[in-house]
Amino acid sequence: MPEIQPIKAFNDNYIWVFQSGNGICAVDPGDPRPLLAWLAEKRQPLTAILLTHHHPDHIGGLARLREHFPEVQVYGPASIAGVTHPVREGGQISLGELALDVIATPGHTLDHLIYLGPDFAFTGDTLFAAGCGRLFEGTPAMMYQSLSRLAGLPDTTRLYPAHEYTLANLYFAQACEPDNRTIKDRLVWAQQCMESSTPTLPVLLSAEKASNPFLRASLPTLVAAASSRAGHAVKPGLETFTILRQWKNEFVR
Ligand SMILES: [Zn+2]
Repeated sequence: MPEIQPIKAFNDNYIWVFQSGNGICAVDPGDPRPLLAWLAEKRQPLTAILLTHHHPDHIGGLARLREHFPEVQVYGPASIAGVTHPVREGGQISLGELALDVIATPGHTLDHLIYLGPDFAFTGDTLFAAGCGRLFEGTPAMMYQSLSRLAGLPDTTRLYPAHEYTLANLYFAQACEPDNRTIKDRLVWAQQCMESSTPTLPVLLSAEKASNPFLRASLPTLVAAASSRAGHAVKPGLETFTILRQWKNEFVR
């Protein structure tokens, strides 16, 4: 089980890195500069890259990193220029002793992939702490199905999303469920993390199931919140999820 560390990029991205064979594997290196600086300080080469989807803040560092490390193995959707090892749903990746499964999670984009290790997952822009990605390309039904698959992973799975959106997501979660104790506690904790510039990630799937509205769309409290928002009774599951996702787009604290 590798030690997984965050490197901050842009305003709120994380590039997750871990030891892989004789070097480092990086997930979604949108900006090459902080990663190159970190590698130089550690005197480590970059041996592998995992890409979750094609957005520039996830793949923007690819060309420069490949110049620096011509041997680097780049895993990701086949449609991304610079991917040396195209992968898709059902694929497996071996990085040294670590085996990763590839899960397709369309919704945020159509090409979105998640990389699943023995007890952790790099969830990109599909599942965030207390939230989920915007629907830029996929339908609500696609995203709902993708999130439902992730919800079926073991509760002890640690999730490594690509953005620090936790606090803003928790404010929305609280608007959906004002009486949810877990959300209240997580909000206090996330505020403390932000004050001390500490990442709120990774997060446990069990905590997400207890507080992430997008994983809770079949529960009566969320159905009631979505019905109130819509002004008419909505069904549990996909219909509730669809209303919640739209509400989040418009949500101002
Ligand atoms: Zn994205």
